[in-house]
Amino acid sequence: MAPNPNDNPTCIFCRIIGGDEMVSVIHEDDEIIAFLDIQPLHPGHVLVVPKAHYKNLFYVPDELATRTFAVAKRIMPGLRKATGCRAVNLFSPNGADGGQDVFHFHLHLIPVPRDAPFPLQLPDPGAAVPSRSQLDVMSTHVIRCIHDEAEQASEAPAEEPAAV
Ligand code: AMP
Ligand code: ZN
Repeated sequence: MAPNPNDNPTCIFCRIIGGDEMVSVIHEDDEIIAFLDIQPLHPGHVLVVPKAHYKNLFYVPDELATRTFAVAKRIMPGLRKATGCRAVNLFSPNGADGGQDVFHFHLHLIPVPRDAPFPLQLPDPGAAVPSRSQLDVMSTHVIRCIHDEAEQASEAPAEEPAAV
């Protein structure tokens, strides 16, 4: 089933796109809007949002995902200049377990000041380093699952899981 564009009244981003909420826009075209996050991690924190309502990246059509990333890339240099930050991080939670709060796909563009390291630093100093054979077992498993899912998607459109 095709997700509905823009008329999900319970979705804050649909309401913003529909003009029903105050927002500070920095980019808008037919398909994408970008605006300042209402509670920025750092000043200049931007959200890049496709106007059509898709729960998260799992459901966004490839072309629209590409457009969203292209708009993010177009914004980044100006955001770096505007904030004086040398780094701009991309972040996108895709599912409640990953911390997603607004279930309308969006990319965070977060300028990172020199004296305020990004909260997520990788590798995590406490993370173990698996053996090569463990990594190879995992990569084989993931490759198989990617094939399975791609095959399934070509046979029938993906159903959204009950909980994300
Ligand atoms: P998440 O789904 O975890 O990426 O969180 C949603 C993000 O949307 C948070 O960073 C919020 O501060 C931001 N947000 C929620 N409501 C608004 C709003 N009305 N205007 C701008 N940003 C918002
Ligand atoms: Zn929405």
